[in-house]
Amino acid sequence: MRSALIYNLSGELDDISHLFPNERLGRIASILQGHGIPATIIDQANHHDLQRLGPEYLKSLGELEFGGTNSQHAAVVAAEAKAILTRGVDTIFLNLWHGAGFTFSIALAQHLRSLAPELTIIGVRQKVDWFKAHILRLAPGALDGLITGLGYDAVDFLAKGGAPANCPNIIWAATEPPRENRSAPLDVETFPLASYTADIYTNITEKVPLHTITLSNQACPNRCVFCIRPENYGRINVKRDIQSVLQELRSLRHDHGIRHVRVEDSTPPAGALTELATAILGSDLRGDMAFSAFARMDTNRDEDFSLLHEAGFLALFLGIESLDDSNLKRIRKGIRYEDICRTLRAAHAAGLKTVGSFIFPLPGETEKTMQTTLCRLREIRGDLDSLLVLPAGIYPDTPWGDAPEDHGVFLEENFVEAFITYPLKYLQPIHLWPPVPFTYSIMGRPAKDVPFTDILKLYAEFTEVARQELGLPAVPDYYYLLADMMGMPPTDATRKLIQLMVARDYAGIRNCFR
Ligand code: SF4
Repeated sequence: MRSALIYNLSGELDDISHLFPNERLGRIASILQGHGIPATIIDQANHHDLQRLGPEYLKSLGELEFGGTNSQHAAVVAAEAKAILTRGVDTIFLNLWHGAGFTFSIALAQHLRSLAPELTIIGVRQKVDWFKAHILRLAPGALDGLITGLGYDAVDFLAKGGAPANCPNIIWAATEPPRENRSAPLDVETFPLASYTADIYTNITEKVPLHTITLSNQACPNRCVFCIRPENYGRINVKRDIQSVLQELRSLRHDHGIRHVRVEDSTPPAGALTELATAILGSDLRGDMAFSAFARMDTNRDEDFSLLHEAGFLALFLGIESLDDSNLKRIRKGIRYEDICRTLRAAHAAGLKTVGSFIFPLPGETEKTMQTTLCRLREIRGDLDSLLVLPAGIYPDTPWGDAPEDHGVFLEENFVEAFITYPLKYLQPIHLWPPVPFTYSIMGRPAKDVPFTDILKLYAEFTEVARQELGLPAVPDYYYLLADMMGMPPTDATRKLIQLMVARDYAGIRNCFR
């Protein structure tokens, strides 16, 4: 590898988090730079490039079927490919996002391949975690390989000139059949912190100044039946040294002027949040930054939530999924209603905003489990500040995806192909979503007898109670940080940003963060 480009276009802006600087891409750049390989990040999810590409193009991109094209799309892809090739790089790390971003990225890879067959093009991140080698089947020849999980070992290995076929955490297309070489990184301290300087991360000043950090290697010791994390990041969770985390925060604050940070570990190691809060309060960052974080109801139940609040934590995202114990057991969530009540109460009483994430309906949901969840939702309402909910999503390499019949799930014959290219649009009301290529058992009916519309009807009943009767808003944890930046109440800030995104008013979004 002589020089590399790390490229992202996430398509239509359907979540404001697209506009946050991307820590993973920044780390890839740092690892390459550490080996003397010049690396640049072009991350088109920023105010400037959204306005440059324009609402008209982004709307039409969102409407394109996977593999489809039109004259404007073809011209944009060709122009991007030409601009990339003038950089003279020999390797491209392509961030694979869902929906329109994925459609665009694959079209770009195919066009680059046609112009420069010798280029090495490697897919990274979310879509790889979700679909792995299936992506290579969908777009034969477009990509040389895929890096799974954190993948820092893989980037390091390739930068040292290692043979891709022997590389950890990589699925190499030329290997027959393409398969993943397993080895999740256990020690993230081995790798340099992300590059956020404008010479490497172009247009970084055009991003929303909300950064993400991690406290561990992001592995999860649990094995919830719906989740892809243990498969991709491993189950041995290794905590980072707190001094290194503090150094990272100091750099963000003092070198880059950042005040708002989201802790991204979906399962922070027990006590890690309290350790971070203690370190912040004992440092020059005390009172100077604001945070949000994920937390698990059992692993993180004994955190010192008052200390977190004192250290600047505003909100916690808590995976709840259901309030019915039989549901929780069936999805192997590893928690019970009493754990949920206890942690929610403690966090809320300490002044933290609690954001509960639900899956509704779950495969196997019955009238009884539904009524239990709704009844208990009323019980915990006083300790719950925000509720996020979606029906179940089924991914390969999860127990739901691997053994669907054991979980009351039915996958259509072309499930993988159809779901990789499913036009996921989070901003669109869910009743407008096209049917997903799977279904599942609800209300005692076998999966095959349940059309997607019936799943949506139950979902609507649930959200009606949550939103109308209980007045629970849908404010993700990081919107509390955005609201703090905007100087607005969280529900107002959320409403305003969503309205601007729906209107594709990119200048308006930029003005929110001036
Ligand atoms: S849902 Fe959370 S706790 Fe469960 S396996 Fe995934 S990351 Fe771990």
